[in-house]
Amino acid sequence: MRKTKLGAIGMALILSLAACSSGSSTDSSGEADTRPLIATTVSPITSIAASIAGDRARVEGIVPEGTNSHTFEPSPKVAKLLSDADLILVNGLKLEDPTIKMAEANKKSDTQIVEIGTLVLPESDYIYDFSFPKEEGKPNPHLWTDPSYAIKYAGVIRDQLSSLDPENVDYYAENFATFEQQANELSAAVTADQKSVPAGNLKLLTYHDAYAYFAKNYGWTVIGAIQPDNFDDPAPSEVARLIDQVKAENVTTIFGSEVFPSAVLEEVGRATGARYEDSLRDDDLPGAPGDAEHSWLGLMKYNYRTMISGLGGTPTQLDAITVAPATSSSAVYPQ
Ligand SMILES: [Zn+2]
Repeated sequence: MRKTKLGAIGMALILSLAACSSGSSTDSSGEADTRPLIATTVSPITSIAASIAGDRARVEGIVPEGTNSHTFEPSPKVAKLLSDADLILVNGLKLEDPTIKMAEANKKSDTQIVEIGTLVLPESDYIYDFSFPKEEGKPNPHLWTDPSYAIKYAGVIRDQLSSLDPENVDYYAENFATFEQQANELSAAVTADQKSVPAGNLKLLTYHDAYAYFAKNYGWTVIGAIQPDNFDDPAPSEVARLIDQVKAENVTTIFGSEVFPSAVLEEVGRATGARYEDSLRDDDLPGAPGDAEHSWLGLMKYNYRTMISGLGGTPTQLDAITVAPATSSSAVYPQ
């Protein structure tokens, strides 16, 4: 009996020592890194978190860039990151349920899982549509493509980091102010440049349905999205319906993305005469980790300039935006 008890205490001691050391990594100088560790999911959210965290917290993404985040299942090795993390930031709105499940099973008891999108979007503003039908119970989760929501995301991240690491409250507030200014500049540039698009052309037909909230706020019309709720290619009857709709609405350009290559859009383009622009990036940040444009701002500048020029406009203001290199951030983006 006594022996067993000692054994249990010994085991608890070993476990607690292991927990202490696993939460910190070692930097190049061999010093333990004691900064808070923030686990995030998709790369735009990783980038927004890195903008706020700067060099005072470590940020590590989970969903590899260029993969379908909607069907993503974390591999067992993600459990290690989730068990080390001091804060787990997810989009929520049902985007990352398998990752949340793994986080709940592995996280430290005092680590919070924060569903940022679920926090900032009241249920009355949920958008359900072709790719995210109401009967499936998963609203369209793509808030971060809208600069005004991206600012709200950054605000939630600032508040979470501030309560986790109160010594750096002012630092996180300063980084938030910088992010807010950049996102507002982007928003103003989109608003100005979209006026150069010929009247009646602000219609969006994309493969992946990532712009519903943006379109609502900026006065664009989402004609549709091609990808059905199971993220396969659509049925032939659906393709035929889209072809009719593109013709009826005189859509000039249809947009695909590198993350979801599809022959269906080519077919719709051929059948309607609409130009097929296949280079949207969805949540795959441009360039490589460490590059200036490998950021939320770089991604959104790229996607909005692609859409506006694709629809016949001139993205002068967007081109004038400088995407500054993130000098102090060393976020980890799995590839
Ligand atoms: Zn998506």
